[in-house]
Amino acid sequence: MKICVLPGDGIGQEIVTQAMRVLDAVGQRFGRTFETTEALIGGCAIDAEGVPLPDQTVAMCKEADAVLLGAVGGPKWDTIDPAIRPEKGLLGIRKALGLFANVRPARLYKQLADACYLRPDIVAKGLDVMVVRELTGGIYFGEPRFDGEKDGERFGYNTMTYYEHEIRRIARVAFEAARKRSGRVCSVDKANVLDVSRVWREIVIDEHKKYADVELSHMYVDNAAMQLVRDPSQFDVIVTGNLFGDILSDEAAAITGSIGMLPSASLGESNPGLYEPIHGSAPDIAGQDKANPLATILSVSMMLRHSFNMVEEADCIENAVEKTLEQGYRTGDIRQEQCEMVGCTAMTEAVLANMA
Ligand code: NAD
Repeated sequence: MKICVLPGDGIGQEIVTQAMRVLDAVGQRFGRTFETTEALIGGCAIDAEGVPLPDQTVAMCKEADAVLLGAVGGPKWDTIDPAIRPEKGLLGIRKALGLFANVRPARLYKQLADACYLRPDIVAKGLDVMVVRELTGGIYFGEPRFDGEKDGERFGYNTMTYYEHEIRRIARVAFEAARKRSGRVCSVDKANVLDVSRVWREIVIDEHKKYADVELSHMYVDNAAMQLVRDPSQFDVIVTGNLFGDILSDEAAAITGSIGMLPSASLGESNPGLYEPIHGSAPDIAGQDKANPLATILSVSMMLRHSFNMVEEADCIENAVEKTLEQGYRTGDIRQEQCEMVGCTAMTEAVLANMA
């Protein structure tokens, strides 16, 4: 199994280095060999090559079976020509690999329940939602689009479009994901107002015929935004379009209160999946061994589960992370009174010890 590693900028190098130690350990324990290569993306690629996504990086990712990314960006590149900003590297690699599905589990570990923004009685019911967001279609890319003037005043519009094939393939990702979880999918749309959403709903219902073992429900996006904070325990997998998914996946992540804990995957039809923590490059703590490596370590376990179908290996990492939290180890972002504050390296060492 070939993995292309893109550490990126800021804390990217630190968290990816630690996540690779976990990958090595899981390989040794289960007799798996992972071949890794490393390439440049983001600000470090701009410094070395003048562009945020060198052709060689794209080629190396395409040759791999999966890609692990740290984070990109930082103040050093904030005033650079917008055409070559570090974030362009991220958008570019998603496009080059045809990654149309963004999969984000938002899970609240019971040990971190205090960090959650919701009332304790709501938290007690649990929060473990996976948002499956369509990533390459919808209003962010629809044509026509316009930004200009009409009848003497500023005027603009975008177009929300979805083709049947785009809806079918994202629905399949959601149904497959639900099969590995609690078997429930809620499709979120605005079918009471938008024609595009009525097409979305009809196609999701039709695709569901192949997944009789999965329960399907539908919800309007305004209600879904409200239900996520009123009772997130009712959700297992949420599948939705690009715009609604952008907002709902951030909402689901934010209510857990632990940005340093959440992994994500971007998946395509046949190209390698790309796995990364949801947080950024955290320049305020970069190079100080303070970053929480768990989101990146959990991105590795997502990679093993989804790209390589290594269920036992993924479970081993996730159980070790949970045990580490149980033992009271905390980095600064999830610090709690009476818990031991550790850095990026020590947190990883605790996870490694719990994997043994
Ligand atoms: P950020 O996620 O980098 O940081 C927000 C806050 O959370 C900071 O206080 C940071 O210290 C903290 N934090 C984030 N990850 C942490 C971790 N693993 N452990 C401990 N604390 C952590 O968001 P930002 O400050 O808005 O952005 C910083 C840079 O990252 C910007 O250049 C931005 O463009 C970039 N960014 C990149 C990505 C990505 O690569 N996917 C995503 C978001 C932001």
